[in-house]
Amino acid sequence: MAKKVANSAGRFGVRYGNMLRKKVNTVESTSRAKHKCPYCGKEGKVKRVAYGIWKCNSCEKVFVGKAYKPY
Ligand SMILES: [Zn+2]
Repeated sequence: MAKKVANSAGRFGVRYGNMLRKKVNTVESTSRAKHKCPYCGKEGKVKRVAYGIWKCNSCEKVFVGKAYKPY
């Protein structure tokens, strides 16, 4: 009985860990993905300079966006 409880708890822990890792991966890839500049339309030139602040290296515009996406 005690063993069974431990097993189910362990299984939940693994599943929760996988979900958490998947979520972290999504956020990481979103913030590192190539973003399109809303001013000049160039892709891959927009870099996040601070939390929610983005800068385009092509037209030098700085704009405020979402934390992990520039728009
Ligand atoms: Zn630009």
